[in-house]
Amino acid sequence: MKLGQWVGGVVSVLAGIGMMAAAVGCAGIPKGTKEDVSLGATVTVHATGAGIIKADTEKTTFKIKCSLCGYESEAITIDTPAMGKPHVLKWVCPKCGHKQTITVQVN
Ligand SMILES: [Zn+2]
Repeated sequence: MKLGQWVGGVVSVLAGIGMMAAAVGCAGIPKGTKEDVSLGATVTVHATGAGIIKADTEKTTFKIKCSLCGYESEAITIDTPAMGKPHVLKWVCPKCGHKQTITVQVN
């Protein structure tokens, strides 16, 4: 009886931690975007500080989400960077002034 209560308590604590981790993960990039888009079997476009809407070998379209206030930018399209030459963007949130560095790289 007592053991069952103890186990139940641990399970609900673990569930709480899991939910917190999930919430933090979701806050990173805008809804409907991805951190990684694969362009082929071995090539992947990866964004840091932003979420990719779509990417191909020519163009990459992404959206930035402010990590401080949650503001989401308009879609931004850039030329897909060459492998080993990441595209770095210094972005300032128009809502709260938070500075965020966005990196789009091809691996
Ligand atoms: Zn902001």
